[in-house]
Amino acid sequence: MKTTIEKLPGETEGVSYELTVFRFKGASRQAPTAYIQAALHAGELPGVVAVHALMPLLRNAEAEGRIAGDITIVPAANPIGRAQYMFGELEGRFHLGTRTNFNRDFPLLGRPDKSALPQLGPASTVDRRLKHLLVGLSMGHDIVLDLHCDDEGVPYLYVPAQLWPAMQDCAAAMGVEAVILWDGASGAAFEEAAIHPYLQMPPAKAGLDRRVVTTVEFRGLADVYSRHAKSDAEGIYRLLATRGVIADGKAAKPKKFSGIAAPINHVDLIAMPRAGAILFHVDPGQRVRKGAKLATIVHTPGERDGALDILAPQAGYVLTRVSKRSGRAGDDIIKLIGETRSAKPKAGALED
Ligand SMILES: [Zn+2]
Repeated sequence: MKTTIEKLPGETEGVSYELTVFRFKGASRQAPTAYIQAALHAGELPGVVAVHALMPLLRNAEAEGRIAGDITIVPAANPIGRAQYMFGELEGRFHLGTRTNFNRDFPLLGRPDKSALPQLGPASTVDRRLKHLLVGLSMGHDIVLDLHCDDEGVPYLYVPAQLWPAMQDCAAAMGVEAVILWDGASGAAFEEAAIHPYLQMPPAKAGLDRRVVTTVEFRGLADVYSRHAKSDAEGIYRLLATRGVIADGKAAKPKKFSGIAAPINHVDLIAMPRAGAILFHVDPGQRVRKGAKLATIVHTPGERDGALDILAPQAGYVLTRVSKRSGRAGDDIIKLIGETRSAKPKAGALED
């Protein structure tokens, strides 16, 4: 295994950032290759600790000569966001300098080759240069995992619809509860940048059946625990074994995914009709019937009519909810995977 440090000069004198990259060399040129990055949204750490737990498994496989395909790992992909503390709070989702989400506006290449990256001018902002660097590091790998987390939620995946159901074995290997299938545009999220060049090719050449591209949502922001890190690392390892990146007959268990897989237009974003305190009546992972009470909003405390209930617009599965317990009118507080298409499907990515 080789460790390299990528340097990213900052935008002012004396400021620069560093990214660590681990590379395992595969024994076979025919074997699929994998790229894994964590914490592109810099405060989302379940993936970082999962990578930390994964590394000993990979080092062990390397010592035993069982790494078949090249593996590239970026354990903490966003040192810029990681440093953005304001009044004691980490802002790791948006770059403060450009107000741009760190997981949007990635370059979408016409072919899967980093030489297709557009030239960056000297005035390019540092978040843009980070995005080019990450696309360059990941491009050409058959398997691309971008490890994130939600606010409070079950483990789930976003998967390009073109890769489903071929990726069922991966969802099963990782042990996630749900898969959201998207197509069209995502605002050029990293995941879209990873699959886009292959969707420009004739299907026979693109080899979509061997490709794995996913945004992995490892539960919620506060779900940073040893036991989750261990099971998530084992899930990633099983995926790598199942797809032949690592030779491990015991871990490779092709099986059918038994969780929920739904198109993104089935997701109902449940919004607060009024500002106030949120009393949740459902947890992530719970199935609900149409009209079930999801939450009560206490908008005028103490008054006889000071609260109102939010009901499920259709039967479905509670995927996530926010961790805060207060909100403004219009704030989305629950993602519900409905059994049918949402009456108000959101175009593109679910969140800004
Ligand atoms: Zn994220």
